[in-house]
Amino acid sequence: KKYIYDFSEGSADMRTLLGGKGANLAQMWKIGLPVPPGFIITTEACHKYWEEKDFISSIWSDVEAAVARVEELAGKKFGSSQNPLLVSVRSGAPVSMPGMMDTILNLGLNDDTVAALAKSAGDERFAYDSYRRFIQMFSDVVLEVDLDKFEERLAQARENAGVKEDYKIPAEELKKLVVDYKKIVEEAGHTFPSDPWVQLRLAIDAVFRSWNTPRAITYRKINNIPAEYGTAVNIVTMVFGNLGDDCGTGVCFTRSPSNGENKLFGEYLINAQGEDVVAGIRTPVPIASLEAAMPEVYKEFHRIAKLLETHYRDAQDIEFTVERGKLYILQTRNGKRTASAAVRIAMDMLHEGLIDAETAVSRVAPEQVEQLLHPQIDPKAKRNVIVKGLPASPGAAVGRVVFDADEAAERGGKGEAVILVRPETTPDDIHGLFAAQGVLTSHGGMTSHAAVVARGLGKPCVSGAESVKIDLAGGTFTVGGVTVKKDDFLTLDGTNGDVILGKMELIEPQFDENFRELLEDADKISNLQVWANADTPEDARRARSFGAKGIGLCRTEHMFMAAERLPVMQEMVVSTTTEERVAQLKKLEVMQEEDFLGIFEAMEGLPVTVRLLDPPLHEFLPKIPELTKALEGLAPESAEAKKINATIARARELHEQNPMLGFRGCRLGMIFPEIYEMQARAIFNAACKLTKKGVRVIPDIMIPLVGTQEEMKRMRKLVDEIGAAVIKENGVALEYMVGTMIELPRAAMVADQLAEYAQFFSFGTNDLTQTTFGYSRDDAEGKFLGQYVEMGVFEENPFARLDRDGVGALMEIAVGKGRSVRPEIQLGICGEHGGNPSSIAFCNKLGLNYVSCSPFRVPVARLSAALAAL
Ligand code: PEP
Ligand code: MG
Repeated sequence: KKYIYDFSEGSADMRTLLGGKGANLAQMWKIGLPVPPGFIITTEACHKYWEEKDFISSIWSDVEAAVARVEELAGKKFGSSQNPLLVSVRSGAPVSMPGMMDTILNLGLNDDTVAALAKSAGDERFAYDSYRRFIQMFSDVVLEVDLDKFEERLAQARENAGVKEDYKIPAEELKKLVVDYKKIVEEAGHTFPSDPWVQLRLAIDAVFRSWNTPRAITYRKINNIPAEYGTAVNIVTMVFGNLGDDCGTGVCFTRSPSNGENKLFGEYLINAQGEDVVAGIRTPVPIASLEAAMPEVYKEFHRIAKLLETHYRDAQDIEFTVERGKLYILQTRNGKRTASAAVRIAMDMLHEGLIDAETAVSRVAPEQVEQLLHPQIDPKAKRNVIVKGLPASPGAAVGRVVFDADEAAERGGKGEAVILVRPETTPDDIHGLFAAQGVLTSHGGMTSHAAVVARGLGKPCVSGAESVKIDLAGGTFTVGGVTVKKDDFLTLDGTNGDVILGKMELIEPQFDENFRELLEDADKISNLQVWANADTPEDARRARSFGAKGIGLCRTEHMFMAAERLPVMQEMVVSTTTEERVAQLKKLEVMQEEDFLGIFEAMEGLPVTVRLLDPPLHEFLPKIPELTKALEGLAPESAEAKKINATIARARELHEQNPMLGFRGCRLGMIFPEIYEMQARAIFNAACKLTKKGVRVIPDIMIPLVGTQEEMKRMRKLVDEIGAAVIKENGVALEYMVGTMIELPRAAMVADQLAEYAQFFSFGTNDLTQTTFGYSRDDAEGKFLGQYVEMGVFEENPFARLDRDGVGALMEIAVGKGRSVRPEIQLGICGEHGGNPSSIAFCNKLGLNYVSCSPFRVPVARLSAALAAL
């Protein structure tokens, strides 16, 4: 079995086997770009490594042969004391996991080869600096020796030499440093291996091992990356960016990963190695100044960057090194980007003719789109800006200052809003980043770890705020004379880099032109329409502005919850005779009509599905203990006490052991028809009034929780009778439909019987999931469903992602039976699943007409519907 591929043997489409980095290196080799020679050990080898003891021995002769081929190409020899070949050993999974796994540079150095390197480079300082870096990295990654000791000794070396920067430490001092570094390794109970072949073997082992470190596992969990992927190992000839001032290293995005602007966007350091740029220790220089520093190199880099972008038809994230004026490309990959950058890059590339509309739509992940709907700081509010850092990941975040990732994870996990403040973040801080609202770092550029990870998570991040002095032990930071303590409120604006003292108000975001256009393209591709669940004119307007093509669910009970209406509703519920009830309903009818006027007007020309009252009536009454408390101190014979006692008696009567399976939904309309009649009258009167004014209204009246044909038949008759009367009274023409929700397994099974009377079906998958599984939608999550997901019983909570096997099967039956009786029947979904990408894909498969979700999810759903159709 072949476990090793030279760059010349691979290509971009082999990323499962070669990992993303390896596949792209091979592809670049293929198209003739300046990539240093190297080879890849496959992800299949990684699996074998975890399965078989001493697997590396079994492929060792192949590794030796591959090294020999690289020696040939590089014109150097591994372990030679004349002309030594040095390599980097780097991980590379099929999907990028920035900073999560291990890398070793300068491998192959020892006391002999370092002298040869010094001679061939004509630079002793450089050679010993590489050597000490190698010992440090190797000891950290492979031997797992604590890095602090090395850092302390390095600081000592700077002090001895009287310099501030590492690259100014002279050769003599570095030689001493190397000797001491080896002592540190020995004190930790290891011998530093001098044989390059031993080094190589241990390094390969360490990269495979790093696939299962806790931080890699956490990262995979957060990003839904399967553990089965494994990592490849890339072994690449070293080129040096730290040989002097005609050398350098950097990373560059072909377009801005923050806002998508079409210009090179990156950073580099002169006389440095790659780790210096990403580690966030030295803050790098913007790429634009490379043009002045190294005009030829810049020109060449610019050419290659554009070429790679055209080749991959996507924005690239490129790592490069300049060795003595010669440019090398060390890596390219599709650049990670924020949602707004993703949208802009997709639309720009569409307009540039690089990609078609289908591709543009597929370049933006539905989950990511929610980021665009994240709140922003009110532009009119005054900002107390204490410092400006780099705008590393856009959006606004407000929270209390926390300096420790563990603490951020704990408090953030409990739902508290915290801002993580760190000198820089390392991959070990990922759990804290995940749970925080946003991140502030004092070091590091736009491509530092914190920035990359924050952008991936959609968390606002301000990085490289260099003047912030953090006192981790004291739990404070100071900047410009202001001291901010742990737990103080801080606001970050990741879009412009502002760090603001205090708690700013956030406001709803606006759609930009690119996003609007992208979603319009998505709509053209989709089979499904996207409607919204909205109960108020304000929600309806928002839904419409987000592109909803109708209202799939207006829950009328919410209209009775408002402070001034609840007492009337309560009077209605407490009524024991029909006359009393009708008297209260008359008052409610006036209010309902107002509500419908507002919603119908906001949705002019689009369908509005109004659902008649659904919850059990006792939900509108105060709890009995509250009522009993209100009785205290009242004279028993007072009118007030009598009223409360009557309410208590009624609440007792209405009490149910299982209210979700109780007296609710159309059962209310069956037993108290006057309630539904009132609602129907309010709907028809509002619709007729607007029709007279020339506003087009399309009302659809929806009956909840229907389980039998008789219920549907009677409720349809009730609505039609009111409708006919009101329409006649008003003397207008008005078309409407009466339909049902499908929320009970029985409803699905007798859908053909229901369709004789129902003109549309809307799947209420919240209740349908509840009733199919027999899981209470209110209690299950906290009690056992969360654990079920952890235990692997479910991949995801079935109340969030539709259960295709059970609930989905019932839906399929209902669709078939419904259409068999009424071929043109309108079909939709209005449970929470209507905004979930996987569930939308399923609805697309079923051939529904629309999905309906909360207004804020409308854009996510529009995009998901398009992706489902592609
Ligand atoms: C449903 O059950 O899916 C539904 C939309 O109705 P509600 O959530 O109001 O019960
Ligand atoms: Mg329901």
